[in-house]
Amino acid sequence: MRAFDATRLYFDRAADHLDLTENMRRLLITPRREVQVEIPVELDSGELATFIGYRVQHDNSRGPMKGGLRYHEQVDMDEVRSLAALMTWKNAVVNLPYGGAKGGIGIDPHQFSHRELERITRKFIDGIHDMIGPDIDIPAPDMGTNAEVMGWIMNQYNKYHGFSPACVTGKPVELYGLPGREEATGRGVGIFVLKLLSRLGRKPQQCRIAIQGFGNVGSHTAKFLSEAECRIVAVSDVSGGFYHPDGLPMKDVLRYALEHGGSLTGYAGGDKITNEQLLELDVELLVPAALGNVITRHNAPRIKAPLIVEAANSPTQPDADEILSKAGHTVLPDILVNAGGVTASYFEWVQNRQHYQWGLNRVRQELDAVLSEAFQRVWELAEQRHVTLRTAAYIIAIGRVGRATVLGGIS
Ligand code: NAD
Repeated sequence: MRAFDATRLYFDRAADHLDLTENMRRLLITPRREVQVEIPVELDSGELATFIGYRVQHDNSRGPMKGGLRYHEQVDMDEVRSLAALMTWKNAVVNLPYGGAKGGIGIDPHQFSHRELERITRKFIDGIHDMIGPDIDIPAPDMGTNAEVMGWIMNQYNKYHGFSPACVTGKPVELYGLPGREEATGRGVGIFVLKLLSRLGRKPQQCRIAIQGFGNVGSHTAKFLSEAECRIVAVSDVSGGFYHPDGLPMKDVLRYALEHGGSLTGYAGGDKITNEQLLELDVELLVPAALGNVITRHNAPRIKAPLIVEAANSPTQPDADEILSKAGHTVLPDILVNAGGVTASYFEWVQNRQHYQWGLNRVRQELDAVLSEAFQRVWELAEQRHVTLRTAAYIIAIGRVGRATVLGGIS
């Protein structure tokens, strides 16, 4: 199933509960604008290379559009379109005054030098600078991009439009960034895990957790949850995973990753497992925090974790979601779980517009407040309507976007 069809399916399941007409569904699901640009770049070798950059602006009825930029070899228009729609629902479910967008380039960033990545990024911005901006569409980091890339974006955008730090978020703290932005998505995942455990009357100390992906989101989730005394029994990255039934020494794992450019390759503190095995471990809670589509109808029946907290975007295919739901698993959905990042991005954008910097404590407190409110609403609606947490989150999000669309006037 194509990525956008999966997003559409989740949308339709919730739209059925809202009695939306077919015309309204079509209006809400259709992206406003899709752009594809050519990125010709001279590589360090002197060779010419040409890449394709994508930006999809899905909806702006609740505010400027917002969403990350992904550098990954699987990026194509269909994936970006799907992720852009997810951003619309994510921003709405946590009630940020934003619509949704997403962008990316189909490259493996590890195959390029630092200078080449900078040139690719600047050329991409040359191609899309007139369709982004603080009041239009504000990019942010996603897989394969980081604070430094966001700094290049700001600098390139400023060359065309003058000083505009709010044109992109997730920037380095020294360059109009927000203290706490980098940790925010993983911290948010951790906050949701603790809320879920608390609702179910379970103690963090009794919870064994497996986390797939040890990049920005996975590593910060692991750090936060190990500090909360959960037992992180397995982690992985693209090279594979490690498992220890009593819990991995998370400080050592985090130090190892830091000293090895974020990679776990060569770590020797647990039994080596594959990414597929990690998903099927006998644990209380599973956190997919890497790629999408890792939980499919093929492996869903073998997943043992009763609780699945989706830190990655679209880790569960719709048919797998049905299998998990029928088998009694509780799935906390991506559009809620990883919204900590865009929430902190919102704080950064507000700060940049006010030319004022918040401290880390304030960022953490406000993040906690926004996410707690969203969790409570989703949980209560799921109970009231007897629907899954995913459908409840979509009902809230689609309801908000639909109302804003109608109130703003359609014709
Ligand atoms: P990242 O690039 O920092 O890290 C990705 C991690 O996934 C790395 O550890 C990498 O080795 C691993 N990985 C890559 N391919 C893999 C594979 N085939 N199997 C297992 N692991 C693999 O990315 P990130 O920013 O941590 O993003 C992870 C997920 O979270 C993505 O789905 C992204 O869309 C989502 N997300 C990120 C943010 C954010 O603020 N960074 C916000 C919302 C959602």
